[in-house]
Amino acid sequence: ATQARSSLKIGLIPADGIGKEVIPAARQAIVALGSDIPKPEFINLHAGWETFTRTGVALPHETVEILKSECDCALFGSVSSPSRKVTGYSSPIVQLRKELDLYANVRPVVSVAPNAGEQPAVDLIVVRENTECLYVKQEQQIDGPNGKEARATRLITERASRRIGQMAFELAAARSRKHLTIIHKSNVLSITDGLFRETVRGVPALTGKYSDVTIAEQLVDSAVYRLFREPEVFDVMVAPNLYGDIISDAAAALVGSLGLIPSINAGDDFVMGEPVHGSAPDIEGKGIANPIASIRSAALMLRHLGYTKGADRLDVAVDQVIREGRYLTPDLKGTSTTQEVLDAVLGKL
Ligand code: ATP
Ligand code: MG
Repeated sequence: ATQARSSLKIGLIPADGIGKEVIPAARQAIVALGSDIPKPEFINLHAGWETFTRTGVALPHETVEILKSECDCALFGSVSSPSRKVTGYSSPIVQLRKELDLYANVRPVVSVAPNAGEQPAVDLIVVRENTECLYVKQEQQIDGPNGKEARATRLITERASRRIGQMAFELAAARSRKHLTIIHKSNVLSITDGLFRETVRGVPALTGKYSDVTIAEQLVDSAVYRLFREPEVFDVMVAPNLYGDIISDAAAALVGSLGLIPSINAGDDFVMGEPVHGSAPDIEGKGIANPIASIRSAALMLRHLGYTKGADRLDVAVDQVIREGRYLTPDLKGTSTTQEVLDAVLGKL
């Protein structure tokens, strides 16, 4: 719900590559919302590969401290990754998720219907658990009787499953269809995925809420199949980390360019918007990066904080620009620049 804030402090971490082009665009879109959100204040912060090459640290202590102590939320751009492993470098986004306990990755995948008011062909949200599963990175290799033997630990806890489940129910309850699909593979991994599935299923009983949300289940493999065959069956999907990773990329493929898809990393105390795309070195510096994923990430971040009206206005403005098709960047087969697309969105606002 909306907190009573007299101003909204937003950390901006453009980081590398086209992040430096699209995050400033998102900032301008937020400013254009005027009084729909309390006075936005922006704090520019450093992180990323360039920061690492300059200072030897990918995520400066100061950036984390300011986010924690001063900011209500943040927008993160994208990081370049070195082509080979570099000692001392690790992705700042992964570290930030840990530092701020951003346990959920939320990624709406929505297509734009040809006419306003029509139901889009794809309109779903993937909610991915972001802290455990195979990503605890406990791997080992030994020399066994059959040669090298490699193992990885997959961790699923009740606590993490419950909190991601609760976030997914919360999102489902706020939508018109109120339908939640739990993704798992408990026919094979009955203990780990069994725990995930049972815990998520138990959220309504535990909280006494969400009785109007319908619950379905789907094995991860058939979920990917259905996603491509009949995406309209899905509303909100919730999944453990690895399946969520795969499902959210698969879903992204349904709506064309990576330059359109937003996400948030959310925890109980903080939310960080982040376009799904990477640093796009092939188009960096050309001024043609699509700013829409970042503008929609800003909308999603504001929605998470309870600023529904501002979020809706951003999304509607973007929908109008896409629908008209006059100002589109090259990834959408247009010839416009980042600035021209931004100006078109600001015009609609
Ligand atoms: P990284 O290692 O940082 O992820 P990458 O080479 O994987 O870099 P991505 O950013 O993931 O690049 O992009 C994949 C492709 O999609 C590239 O061809 C890129 O130009 C294109 N792309 C990604 N984001 C955008 C955007 N916002 N606007 C236009 N094209 C984009
Ligand atoms: Mg990439």
